[in-house]
Amino acid sequence: MIKTLSIVLLPSEAANDAIIRRNIAGELDIRARRITGYHIQKQSIDARGRQPKIILQLEVFIDQPLKPLPVFDPELQNVANAQPVVIVGAGPAGLFAALRLITLGYKPVILERGKDVRSRRRDLAAMNKEGIVNPESNYCFGEGGAGTYSDGKLYTRSTKRGNVQRILQLFVHFGAAENILYEAHPHIGTNKLPHIITAMREQIIACGGEVLFDTKLTDIVLNGDQIKGVKTANGISIDCKALILATGHSARDIFTLLHHKDIEIECKPFALGVRIEHPQILIDQAQYHCTVRDAYLPPASYSLVAQEYGRGVFSFCMCPGGIIAPAATNPGEVVVNGWSPSKRNNPYANSGTVVSVDEKDFAAYGFTGPLAGMQYQQMVEQNAYKIGGGKLVAPAQRMVDFTEGKVSSTLPDCSYLPGIHSAAIKDVLPEAVSQALKLAVADFGKKMKGYFTNEAVLVATESRTSSPVRIPRDKETLQHTQIKGLYPCAEGAGYAGGIVSAAIDGERCAEMAVQFIKI
Ligand SMILES: Cc1cc2nc3c(=O)[nH]c(=O)nc-3n(C[C@H](O)[C@H](O)[C@H](O)COP(=O)(O)OP(=O)(O)OC[C@H]3O[C@@H](n4cnc5c(N)ncnc54)[C@H](O)[C@@H]3O)c2cc1C
Repeated sequence: MIKTLSIVLLPSEAANDAIIRRNIAGELDIRARRITGYHIQKQSIDARGRQPKIILQLEVFIDQPLKPLPVFDPELQNVANAQPVVIVGAGPAGLFAALRLITLGYKPVILERGKDVRSRRRDLAAMNKEGIVNPESNYCFGEGGAGTYSDGKLYTRSTKRGNVQRILQLFVHFGAAENILYEAHPHIGTNKLPHIITAMREQIIACGGEVLFDTKLTDIVLNGDQIKGVKTANGISIDCKALILATGHSARDIFTLLHHKDIEIECKPFALGVRIEHPQILIDQAQYHCTVRDAYLPPASYSLVAQEYGRGVFSFCMCPGGIIAPAATNPGEVVVNGWSPSKRNNPYANSGTVVSVDEKDFAAYGFTGPLAGMQYQQMVEQNAYKIGGGKLVAPAQRMVDFTEGKVSSTLPDCSYLPGIHSAAIKDVLPEAVSQALKLAVADFGKKMKGYFTNEAVLVATESRTSSPVRIPRDKETLQHTQIKGLYPCAEGAGYAGGIVSAAIDGERCAEMAVQFIKI
């Protein structure tokens, strides 16, 4: 007999097999020895009460042998001699597009401007230690894209767009821990992601696909309204009938190229603000109602939203036990983001806290047209660089000081390695953004005890939340509305926000590109 049921346990109990079995037996009113085994289908934390609980949804086997979980088959094949499809960008979208092409019997050829994950590390060290930005290799550009040196949170709301479980299973197939398959808010961690990305690339190559690093797309060749091929900075020309453009939200040269070639792109609203860092213990105390976090609970996170002056303000990409990272892609700009290791064991908790901005905001600074959002974003990032004083040092202010309009006389310790400089955040951000943020952090403090404190520091700027442009495409075929054979894909094109949704969109674009090639 197989039964599914949910049990609610203390965190320490949920880590103890004997106690889980005892609780199952009690719940089903049977003897524990009749239980031959169980699979966890879902695991979540309920921290609403004074004592946080773990909810386990289980598939339980009674009086019959435990059936092992089905072995996932990625259905890969040799495509060395198959028809090629060009993918630009080796982020989650590009990599999952490549794997999908292989299952469909086509040969992926990935062009990536950055370096492989291992060589990329040196450029990240130069950013953190010396404040030097390599415009081709950084936290956004290089193998695995922006997702490689990230927190690796895999939670998505895009469940209707594709098969999330398949994406998670592929991650497990390439080396991620199995708990990502059942945890409510799974994450992988910066230390584990590079190995997984490497395994994906090795598999793509073993199947006959190609991955070309240091190969930046610089031109798209058209034959009328049809894709004919691509040209790269290192002199490679490739003819292709279908092109999956998965270059991410920071490929400003690509947005500019499309605009200059009169290939339709649109200005898109996005959100911008700061990263806020608290001591992790304050977040644990607020969320778990404790003095010291139970050793069986993960570092706590939060998700906060407010509406201020008609604008959405929200926390974003929360990294418990994390680090604030420099995410600039060009010298002369300061951009921050966050990551955490798999154990999330740093003493800080950070999250992007951002305010929605749109065409009216861009126009107020004189920016109009499809690239207006990108230019506005760039303006704020360059301003942060100037105020920070160079070398990626970021302007920062304590939270209460920010709301009271006082430049902080001291700053707390902060995880951001290039360093922080005391400044008025209102001078860094556009006034409307700064005003909305001021109200929001005070409101968030009312929702979450301990949040509104001068122990928290605001670090500017969190500006690459989503793409500032949309590359329009047909809803059904996913093909560019004007250029046949062009598949604007994932985050850079405005159709994804995060690792899993980008991967899903990569798979969908691969499927549609294949249908187009077959015609
Ligand atoms: C520090 C950090 C932490 C993050 N944490 C998380 C998280 O925990 N969870 C989550 O879901 N999301 C996170 N994100 C966001 C997530 O990484 C992105 O949403 C996701 O990577 C988007 O995937 P993509 O494939 O669309 O684009 P990208 O990952 O941006 O990949 C685009 C690729 O295209 C390449 N490229 C660009 N231009 C060219 C060109 N001209 N020629 C050739 N190649 C080019 C780039 O080098 C890059 O490798 C984080 C991002 C950052 C920066």
